[in-house]
Amino acid sequence: MSPRYGPRGKLPLVQFRTYAIAMPTRFRGIDRREGMLVQGPAGWAEFSPFLDYDARESAPWLAAALDSAERPWPTPVRSQIAVNCTVPAVGPEQAQSIVRSSGCTTAKVKVAERGQALAADVERVEAVRDAIGPHGKVRIDANGGWSVDEAISAVAALNIAAHGLEYVEQPCASVEDLATVRRKVGVPIAADESIRRADDPFRVVELEAADIAVLKVAPLGGVHACLRIAEQIGLPVVVSSAVETSVGLAAGLALAAALPDLPYACGLATTSLLAGDVVAQPLKPVDGFLPVGRQALDPTAYDSVAADGETDARWQARLSAVRAVLG
Ligand SMILES: [Mg+2]
Repeated sequence: MSPRYGPRGKLPLVQFRTYAIAMPTRFRGIDRREGMLVQGPAGWAEFSPFLDYDARESAPWLAAALDSAERPWPTPVRSQIAVNCTVPAVGPEQAQSIVRSSGCTTAKVKVAERGQALAADVERVEAVRDAIGPHGKVRIDANGGWSVDEAISAVAALNIAAHGLEYVEQPCASVEDLATVRRKVGVPIAADESIRRADDPFRVVELEAADIAVLKVAPLGGVHACLRIAEQIGLPVVVSSAVETSVGLAAGLALAAALPDLPYACGLATTSLLAGDVVAQPLKPVDGFLPVGRQALDPTAYDSVAADGETDARWQARLSAVRAVLG
């Protein structure tokens, strides 16, 4: 089993447990999600930076996990959170079945997948609109995959295919390009990577590059840190996941529950992207909503996704490296 660590020397010795869960459909270039779970005085928390993140970029993820394990979350002002379903870069039939089985009235569709043509995005977005009906909402996420010119023509085509897009998330990689696209398309722009992977999350505001801020608890240092960003950024916030287990998703729900205003459905219904979970009852939306509250690791569920020795050793080494950065 895993060695023991005392994070920042403040807690009694706590054990980080490593999981490895298959992903039925490739998503953001990965087909397996790995991470660690830890229990502190306030409850269970998750540390699961993506494998391509170095120790420096993983540091806020550990700060977020320790924050959730050590401190009570802010007082919620709502008990359930409206969520969107997420449609990966799949074919139109699979896209429709994902939307129909989710029960959600908002769908986020991945577009600009490397190796796919715009025609595939158009087909997928048309299929999703058809499945969600005229009163549902369709948003797209390009993960920064377009140039300015590509974004302008793609957003125009996809806005027609969707019969009106709710918003387009991160059409281009840079904040400057987001600002340019925002001035040229008639669709609201949401900033995601421009906030969570940027040295300065407030640059999107300075450059008037976005209408909506996507906040993710883990890469932004935790629920309390995100609440401060939300207060300062002055844009409507959509809370999204980093494809965590239900333990990590609960922290996102805690942030969404504490925000004074929550005008959009949140991107927290992502357990369907994982083939397993670590809690007894994984967070699955009911009528488009997820409940707010702590999620506890269930030993039986965890056993079915516990990482092998080699993976665990790799994560324990990673944890040590990230703790050294965090200080
Ligand atoms: Mg995104």
